Amino acid sequence: MTNRLYYNSAYLKQWETSIIETVEKADGHYVVLEETAFYPHGGGQPCDLGMIQGIPVLDVILEDDHILHKIESVPAEQRVSCSIDWDRRFDHMQHHSGQHLLSAVCLEMFDMTTLSFHLGNDYCTIDVEAKELTSNQMESIEHEVNRQIYLNHPILSYWVNEDEAKLIKLVKQPKVTENIRIVEIKDVEYNACGGTHVSATGEIGMIKLLKAEKQKGNIRIYFKCGYRALEEFNQSQRILGALSSKFKTGKDEIIQRLEKWELEQKELQAELAILREENSEFIAKQLLSGQNGAVITAIFEDKTMKELQSLAGKLTSHSDAYVLLATKTENKVVLARNNQLGQSCGAFFKTYLKDFSGKGGGSDILAQAGFPTWEEARAFYEFTANKLRAQ
Ligand SMILES: [Zn+2]
Repeated sequence: MTNRLYYNSAYLKQWETSIIETVEKADGHYVVLEETAFYPHGGGQPCDLGMIQGIPVLDVILEDDHILHKIESVPAEQRVSCSIDWDRRFDHMQHHSGQHLLSAVCLEMFDMTTLSFHLGNDYCTIDVEAKELTSNQMESIEHEVNRQIYLNHPILSYWVNEDEAKLIKLVKQPKVTENIRIVEIKDVEYNACGGTHVSATGEIGMIKLLKAEKQKGNIRIYFKCGYRALEEFNQSQRILGALSSKFKTGKDEIIQRLEKWELEQKELQAELAILREENSEFIAKQLLSGQNGAVITAIFEDKTMKELQSLAGKLTSHSDAYVLLATKTENKVVLARNNQLGQSCGAFFKTYLKDFSGKGGGSDILAQAGFPTWEEARAFYEFTANKLRAQ
């Protein structure tokens, strides 16, 4: 059986050992080492990565008490030097240890038991048994975990048997009955755990609780520790910096500026709506005065579908002609009529749209369609105008 070096010290980064077995699986090559500091997936913690004799380790799994290292190719030598990706491992140690403290504080302060732990590259969470978590509770948990971090409690690990384990006030009963590994955060908690931890809580650096959400009747808390928390802070600083320079103000006044800007936007929108309405009235009058025959037609450069529909409504309320409008920006065509005419706009579109790759439809008095290109929209527009004039 492999000697697991990470149990004795989570700080071992390099060592020499021998390959004792090579395993070929459908998905690649695996080696078993006499001694390994590579932590396999388990207990909510992802595996370590690194090198064996300069060859990248792709995955580390635990199978029937054997630690299998998936490797790009099997080294020619039996005696190999190994190294783990320390930044990745230390990040796991900070989060795993942070999780212990976070869970201990949730239990101590609000009697919330931790149900599960996820530590991923993207995010870290614990699920706690609770119906809700208020923002005040979040704040006080975050403050207390950070306080416990700064108290710099030593984190110890040692092995006990089943009888000895019964004498320890463990957070949760262990799954195994022999060789039970106890992880003790001095003065805080005892936990049966096989993961890798920092040697004192101060190394967690800091914890930041990001958000809490309901998850299957319980509460999921998202958090970051150490370097990830620092990176989160830096990211937020970058965003704040960009907003500060956009609004040309200090970060304390951004919200005020944004509220002022929102107000101005609303006023501008209202003014724009009035101007559009006036413009639409003007265009309607022009089109009506120039009306010649049974169809009023017009092509616009940059009107939206909504504007076309509104204009069509105005025209049909003053004229018994068909109204056919198109807009170049959206490759769209609208056909409208009032109740005095016979041809159904929707039915007309349904019959002929497909010949022009158009999609759309509508009622007897109003139909609209969109086209992949302006050429197709234009062709349908011309076709419709000619067809209706010939009636
Ligand atoms: Zn642990």
